[in-house]
Amino acid sequence: MKHWKSIIASLLLLSSGTGIVNARQYHFSPDKTDELKRLVSSGSLAPGDEVILADGVYRPGDFNFFAEGTSADTITLRALNPGKAIVSGPVKMRIYGSYLKVDGLFFNKAWASGFSMIEFRKDKGVNARHCRLTNCVIDDCNDPEKSEKPAPPGHLPMSVAEYWVGLYGENHRVDHCYFANKRIGGLVLQLWLDENSHINNHQIDHNLFGFRQPYGGNGAEIIRVGHSWSSQLESHAIIENNVFLHCDGENEIISVKSCNNILRRNLFFESRGGLVCRHGHYNVIEGNTIVGNHLKGTCGIRIINQGHTVYDNLVCRTDGWGLLVRVGVFERPTPETDIKAEPLTSYHRAENVDIAYNDFIDCRSMELGSGKGEKMPRNVRFAYNNIYGDSFDMKVSRPEHTLGGFYFLDNSYGFSDGKTIPMTGFVRTSVPSDHFTNERNRVLGLLTDIGAAWYADNNAELAYISNKYK
Ligand code: CA
Repeated sequence: MKHWKSIIASLLLLSSGTGIVNARQYHFSPDKTDELKRLVSSGSLAPGDEVILADGVYRPGDFNFFAEGTSADTITLRALNPGKAIVSGPVKMRIYGSYLKVDGLFFNKAWASGFSMIEFRKDKGVNARHCRLTNCVIDDCNDPEKSEKPAPPGHLPMSVAEYWVGLYGENHRVDHCYFANKRIGGLVLQLWLDENSHINNHQIDHNLFGFRQPYGGNGAEIIRVGHSWSSQLESHAIIENNVFLHCDGENEIISVKSCNNILRRNLFFESRGGLVCRHGHYNVIEGNTIVGNHLKGTCGIRIINQGHTVYDNLVCRTDGWGLLVRVGVFERPTPETDIKAEPLTSYHRAENVDIAYNDFIDCRSMELGSGKGEKMPRNVRFAYNNIYGDSFDMKVSRPEHTLGGFYFLDNSYGFSDGKTIPMTGFVRTSVPSDHFTNERNRVLGLLTDIGAAWYADNNAELAYISNKYK
């Protein structure tokens, strides 16, 4: 116990939902990092305990946070002053056990010493449950060996995958965090599913995902839910009330690759990519707002696969399509499909999709049935949508084969250049005069309580968006 001499342990009497418990507070400063690591990995922390990091720069390297809290009494690892406990250097942080919370840490000039910087598991098959990452910032965390050194000829300087956060297990929450300036390939946030652990109920909410520079290829999404090989599994994640600003890494900002997820009330602002249902079925895309401001590479919602609901989204001023319903190459895979075989990684027929009550304002185009393949969309209802703007291009690929798969009902449109959509189910009206007011109210309403409020860049980015509506 010698090395714990420096620990100030104070016994607190806390009343909790389960009655009176003895909860301790342990205080550490950067010069006691070894003692800190021993305590938080020991499994000896009890429900209600708090481990509190004093101001300073911590270089923890490999770092396990393992304990068993309870639903009434979480075990917390937090900064004494949010943002003043800075985590730097190579990091391999593994959070496992249950009911653990990480609060107020500032990851800056840190990077993954292995494949990913933070994982919610010990190792393969030993996953965490009910853990939370909140009020944290991960900004400019790139391995200098990979991101700053001159690349060999023919290679991107940052063409190595390095993940920031990997969620394994179930019932985790990532909220009120700020993430920005990832330059190396790999995900900001990956939800991992496999046959033994896929219904996860994770909640990703009120985060601000800031600038990610164009990567130059695939593999620089901000959030991916599953993978092609796990895409036929139920996931049940909720991604809501997040803001994505200048997320320019690649053409997918969120890539959904699993079933039964909900993505709602997110704001995508001037981000050069789209919200993509790439694999998996029965996902709900509802109440999201996408504002492209005509920047190159901005686009809307891309739909592939079956059973999705796309309701009440507002898509404004995208340089590319506001909506794309792709043609399939294969039918829907079965549970027996070989996970390594092409049918799982390819494109499947879009079928039984409901796209209704969405507004598309000043988007360049809409694409129905585009792409290579012969599996035309089937039973897609497109109803009560509004399409307005200066001009618009409704692109229907191979209409003689494509249109039979759509049911168009009571959609309204109006374009300043007088263009028409000469299809059944579309009615031409005048452009509503209040659509900018609607957009303004909707965007400003989505900027409340987002990200880590203690971080200046976080607030400057929110102000950047709100200033666009002054
Ligand atoms: Ca991608």
